[in-house]
Amino acid sequence: MFSRRSFVVSAAAAGAAFGLDRPVEFLPSALAQEAARETGLNPKKLQFYRFNVGDIEVTQVFDGEIVRPHDPNFVRNASIEERQKALAAGGVVTDGVPTGFTVTSMKIGDRRVIFDAGNGAGGLPQSGRLQENMKAAGFEAKDVTHVVLTHFHPDHIFGLMDKDDKPLYPQAEIIAPAAELAFWTDESRTSKLPQGVQGLVRRVGATLGAWKNVRRFEGEGEVLPGVKPVPTYGHTPGHTSFHVASGAQQFMVLADVTNVKELFLRNPGWHVVFDMDPNLAEASRRRMFDRVVADKIPVAGYHYGMPGCGTVSKDGAGYAFAPMA
Ligand SMILES: [Zn+2]
Repeated sequence: MFSRRSFVVSAAAAGAAFGLDRPVEFLPSALAQEAARETGLNPKKLQFYRFNVGDIEVTQVFDGEIVRPHDPNFVRNASIEERQKALAAGGVVTDGVPTGFTVTSMKIGDRRVIFDAGNGAGGLPQSGRLQENMKAAGFEAKDVTHVVLTHFHPDHIFGLMDKDDKPLYPQAEIIAPAAELAFWTDESRTSKLPQGVQGLVRRVGATLGAWKNVRRFEGEGEVLPGVKPVPTYGHTPGHTSFHVASGAQQFMVLADVTNVKELFLRNPGWHVVFDMDPNLAEASRRRMFDRVVADKIPVAGYHYGMPGCGTVSKDGAGYAFAPMA
């Protein structure tokens, strides 16, 4: 049985495609304190934020926020000083990297859908709040009929399960990119990943790899009415965004096409340490943002704080973001 205690990753292993940058069981109190203060990413302290895309009701639900202490390796090709300048320009704290986690939920007909499942309880401090904030928004885990996954980093999937790997959404259909599931359950590939990532590999195998309620999809055909996958590989081998349409309105669930917008939307050529294939990730990023700008498609970014949704425009060599609220 995999336990969270064995889920160790060193800072050195963070480059290997991972959603955390230090051991979970040894979260230094400094990080906890950093995380306990305001980041600037949720200035209105929203638990949720609701709007419509055609007939689809969308609810952005806050899972939490942390401030990652600066680490020279966090961005492969920008100095800490350059990052601090970008953070200051974005109006958020600069003495670490403020990182938000926001889950997008949709009511599509009588279906209650969530895109990714948050950090889960007991992981990063000041996160794992999805369950309480879903309740504030008027629904809870047992009401969820479909969980659509973008990729398998811990901050996106550990909220699917409790600390003993018991599913929190046993009644739901879990819809996952076949390429992502194939990668994380292929020992010939995962065995080459650093030791620090093996805990994640084991946990995926024990849950998504074994659960009977997982539907894998390939290609770009609808996975739910109005919901079409958009492959944005690079962050992970099967990383997928989702285009949502109802009537004449459109929306894009980006997931991790960029990490925090203050750094990587402004500077699409910057490579976050968590992008497993940085060049492919950058190509996916530029293609995606050129599309949403050209087609004026509002977006949600998983790490954009709250409300985490808004519109993107071209701005110099990068892009600018205007939040909906
Ligand atoms: Zn992420």
